[in-house]
Amino acid sequence: MAEFYKLKVADIYKETEDTAVVTFEVPSTLHSVFKFRQGQHLTLKKDINGEDLRRSYSLCSSPIDKQWTVAVKQIPGGKFSTYINETLQTGDEIEVMAPTGMFGVPVQPEKEKNYLFFAAGSGITPVLSMVKTHPAQEPHATCKLFYVNKTAKSIIFKEELEQLRNIYFGRLEIYYFLTKERRDIELFNGRFDDDKMKVLTKTFIDIPRHG
Ligand SMILES: Cc1cc2nc3c(=O)[nH]c(=O)nc-3n(C[C@H](O)[C@H](O)[C@H](O)COP(=O)(O)OP(=O)(O)OC[C@H]3O[C@@H](n4cnc5c(N)ncnc54)[C@H](O)[C@@H]3O)c2cc1C
Repeated sequence: MAEFYKLKVADIYKETEDTAVVTFEVPSTLHSVFKFRQGQHLTLKKDINGEDLRRSYSLCSSPIDKQWTVAVKQIPGGKFSTYINETLQTGDEIEVMAPTGMFGVPVQPEKEKNYLFFAAGSGITPVLSMVKTHPAQEPHATCKLFYVNKTAKSIIFKEELEQLRNIYFGRLEIYYFLTKERRDIELFNGRFDDDKMKVLTKTFIDIPRHG
């Protein structure tokens, strides 16, 4: 049976109007149990109005930082995401399962890798963990992130991403796309459809042909 551990909320803040970022206090005795790889998620459990609810949330922090942080976007009418965004507070306890999941690739410091990331809205969470981890631990790696949001104000982790872009200047490129706000360059308006992918692969993405 899945084992849950009671963890205290060390910090909770609103990253955007509808997204709360929660950091858990993991006691040193549990550090080995909660060891994780970029891309993995936590399962949280809470009794909400007499209902035992469990939901998964990707870790957006990096294993390098020894920090366990998730970002929860409030879904209209969503039970768990509304509880996290409207009720949960610093110092509260919540039950959390050890990290799990197979998303992502291992760190290989000696390899020359070129990562391409595509994310939309709260889908940035596991990608943020990867963008914090791979360039830091793979000195020859480059990363390109293509990130869609509705409006400029709703871009989750914009500030953190900009800081990372400065730290890994030249190795981390970020391209923002908006669906509900017009930008001057047409390419950066709208979702990743066939036409956009054709332009992106011609202009930004250089995939060498093999064979
Ligand atoms: C591996 C994994 C990782 C995840 N990581 C994250 C993460 O990092 N951040 C995050 O915010 N969420 C993440 N999720 C989604 C999360 O687990 C919940 O599904 C989400 O928070 C909604 O739960 P809820 O209880 O609020 O909604 P519910 O009460 O379960 O659902 C309410 C209504 O909303 C609909 N609904 C549920 N989810 C969505 C959605 N995503 N978009 C639109 N409608 C929806 C339902 O069909 C239902 O009609 C992840 C899910 C998985 C499986």
